[in-house]
Formats: sequence, structure tokens, C-alpha cells
Amino acid sequence: MVPQSLLTPAQRTAYATAVFIALFFVLALASTIPFIWESKSLWYKFGLDKTLLQAGKVVGICAAILCFFQILLALRLKSLDRIFGLDRVYILHKYNGTLVLSLVALHFMLVVLPEGLDNLPISWKFWPEMLGAALFVTLGLVVAGTFLRRNFLPYHLWRMLHRPIGYVIAAGISLHIFNVSDSFTQGVPHYGLWVLIITLFFTAMVTKVLTRRRHKVLKVENISLLNDGIISLEITAPSWFHHAPGQFAVVTLHGSKRAKNDTNSAIIKAEPHPFTIASAPGTGTHQHDTLQFCIKQCGDWTRQLSPDISAGATVQGPYGLFSYLANRRAANLVFIAGGIGITPMLSMLRQLSTSSPDPPPVVLLWSLLCKKDMFLEEELQRLQQAMPSLRIHLFFTREQDGTKIDESTLTQTLEGLVHNSHVYLCGPERMTATLQKLLKNLGYPRSSIFLERFSL
Ligand SMILES: Cc1cc2nc3c(=O)[nH]c(=O)nc-3n(C[C@H](O)[C@H](O)[C@H](O)COP(=O)(O)OP(=O)(O)OC[C@H]3O[C@@H](n4cnc5c(N)ncnc54)[C@H](O)[C@@H]3O)c2cc1C
Repeated sequence: MVPQSLLTPAQRTAYATAVFIALFFVLALASTIPFIWESKSLWYKFGLDKTLLQAGKVVGICAAILCFFQILLALRLKSLDRIFGLDRVYILHKYNGTLVLSLVALHFMLVVLPEGLDNLPISWKFWPEMLGAALFVTLGLVVAGTFLRRNFLPYHLWRMLHRPIGYVIAAGISLHIFNVSDSFTQGVPHYGLWVLIITLFFTAMVTKVLTRRRHKVLKVENISLLNDGIISLEITAPSWFHHAPGQFAVVTLHGSKRAKNDTNSAIIKAEPHPFTIASAPGTGTHQHDTLQFCIKQCGDWTRQLSPDISAGATVQGPYGLFSYLANRRAANLVFIAGGIGITPMLSMLRQLSTSSPDPPPVVLLWSLLCKKDMFLEEELQRLQQAMPSLRIHLFFTREQDGTKIDESTLTQTLEGLVHNSHVYLCGPERMTATLQKLLKNLGYPRSSIFLERFSL
């Protein structure tokens, strides 16, 4: 049965089509503005100049609408998550930002060309045009920052800047449009733009209020070390929280860490971080699930975590579609994990081992660097006993006699499984990209391979 937090694949396709048709419809309607509500700047242009200016205006209007759409994509809307999965929504946000920048560059060229470079609108009188140019530069910096941030900016600083700048750009674009073209000073374009702005503002406000209401600080039941560098965090779930195995949540800790001398305590930064829920649904007491997160200490925030933390937590979610329950039933399941990428597989295996009387055959391939990185030995033995149809293959790539998951190991371990198997893949980016290619070479169709990325 598909859990309450998930839509069926058919429903997702239908809703996704509806979203893109609605977006296309808004873009198409808005593109008629320079033709139906012609601005005065077009009255004095003829031939190619007029066509270029008109095209420039259409492109500019489309860029503005896609820029407003950017805000919807960034709001972590549950409705969009259920249709596309939040990770894909963020990828769409990233590439839509690049599209907006390209359209703005094209808009700039098309509106400047008919005027000629000698007549650039540079003076206070032309502040709306100059605001447009400033927005173009800011947008360029934001897009470049998004693609290059890993090289020069810690994630939390980048995020702190990215959000407010995004809102400033959207506000600046509205100001630019209302003042740069007399098509927008009255009538349908004027009110249409207001409707768009107000709808966006209310959606953002309602989302904020709803997430605030759900921001009750929850009890952290336990924080322990699973091995050197992996922390287990257990949180009592709120009563409204129902997840499917494999989904993730955005967790914020509110508390502090006792210092060694027990006098000073260090505050844990209350930053929201996404982590897969490693526990299966229904773990905990009758009324409240216990959500377990297995966290690799890999950066400045995760390295603060330790068993001596005393904290409460807020949890947003569940998000994502990386779950065997989100897709049609397959005869075989193949789970391939690299390092901490095991967490969604763990949740799915835990669910399969307890809730299905007749679970499908599952092959788990888990690649780790060294034997000392292993942190689920007993759990894997328990799962193996509970599910005789489970085959587990471990790979230790940095051990002397170690092997890695490559074409020959995939061929051996997945022999006879190409047809009617679903492959779930989660691990470091390079590993998942390579394995995706290998799996395709082995005959697995793209539609049977599902990926989870641990970077949004
Ligand atoms: C869907 C999803 C599920 C995940 N599940 C797990 C899991 O089960 N176990 C686990 O150990 N890790 C998981 N991660 C990765 C985890 O979110 C990051 O390792 C963690 O946030 C790093 O924080 P840091 O400040 O310690 O590291 P940093 O060195 O600051 O960040 C390392 C990278 O992690 C990402 N990141 C950092 N902070 C955030 C943030 N607030 N929001 C989004 N991304 C961020 C960025 O891509 C950054 O480049 C998951 C990530 C995603 C997107």
C-alpha cells in the first residue's frame, strides 16, 4: 500500500504535467503583452528593430515569471515534494536559475541592439533600466556562486546570503517591470503582475506560518556513537509525522554540548540539515514514532555532534521519493550504497523485514573504504535472519584484499536480475554516476534506476 505521504507514480505524472502546463500557460499569456498592450517605445521602431525589441520584451517577461517560479521552488512546498521529490525540486531550482540568467542576458542584448551601444540608458532618469542592469549582474553572481560555492564558501554562509538576495532580486524585478515599460502602468498587465506578486507573497507567508506551527521542539531520546565518525540521533516524532522508508527530514538541533571541564557549554548551531530517516515507520511507542538518523561527521556542523549533547530538535518533512513504496512493485530490489548512503537502504530493509510477510528478493551491495568503517554488523545479521531472500555483498575498497563495485562484480552479483528489478543507488556523486552508467550498459533501463543525492 502507498503510504499517506506518497502519491502513486500515475498521480505524480498527472500532477507534474498539470504544473508544467500551468507554467506554460502563464508564460504564453504573458508573452502576448508586448503585442496587445504595446508600449510607447515600440511605436517609434520599425522592421527588424521593432521585432528585436518586441522579442526582447517577451524574453524579459518570461525571465521574470521564471524568477518568481524560483521562489516557489525554494519554499520546500510539500505539494511540489510529493510530485517531484524535494531533491529534484532543488535541482530544478538550480537549473531554472541558470535559465533565468540566460534569458535576462538575451533580454539585455535584444533591447539594447535596436537602440545601439551609443545610446545606452545611463543617467538617473533611466533608473529602471539601470536597476535592470544591476539585477542582471547580481543574478550572474548568484548563479556563479551556486555552482562554485564549494570552492570558496561554507554551505551555511552561502545559504545565509542566497535566500535574502533571491527575495531582493524578485522585488527588484517587480520594480523594474512596473517602471521600465508603460505596458505595465495600467490595465490587465498591471493588475496581472500584482496578482502574481500577491499570490507569491501569500504562498511564502502561509508556508512560513505552517512550518512555524509545526516547529514544536521535540525530545531527543538518544545520541550515541555507532563507530568512530558515525552518530546515531534518535528523536521522538510528532504525532503528525508519517514517513515512508527511504524518505528524509530536515533536522535542527536546539541545545548545547557540555564542555570537558563541565563549566562552559558550547551552543550547537541551530542550522537545518537534511538527513535520511534510517528507522522504519512505526518504530517507537504506539503513539509516537522514534526517528533514527545515522549521521556521518564530515563537516563543521556534523563534527559538533557527540553523545554529551543535551538538546531538543525540530523536524521538517518527510521529504523525497527515494522509496520502493513510491514506485510500482518490482519482482527484485537491488540496493547499492556507498558509505553513509546506506541509510535509506537501512530504512527500507528494516521495513521489508518487519512489515511484508513475503518480501521480494533483495540484493544489497554496500561499499565502504575499510573494515573499521563498518557500523551495522549486528543489524545486517538480524536482517539476514529475518529475510532469507536477502543477499548481502560488502566491499572494502581500501583494504589490501579489497574489491570495489565495478562491471565484473555487478555482473556476478546481479546475474539474472536485469528484468523486473528496481535499483536504488545512494553514495558519493562520482560512485553513483559511474554505477549508473555501468547499470545502463548491463541493460537496466533508466526508468528502473533510482538515485538519492546527499547534496541539495
Ligand atoms: C536528501 C539528503 C539525505 C541525507 N542523508 C544523510 C544521512 O542519512 N546521513 C548523513 O550523514 N548525511 C546525510 N546527508 C548529508 C548531510 O546533509 C550533510 O552531510 C550535512 O548536512 C553536512 O553538514 P556539515 O555542516 O557538517 O558539512 P559541510 O562540510 O558544511 O557540508 C558538506 C556538504 O553538505 C551539504 N550541506 C551542508 N549543510 C547543509 C544544509 N544545511 N542543507 C543541505 N545541505 C547541506 C552541502 O552540499 C555541503 O557542501 C543527506 C543529504 C541529503 C540532501
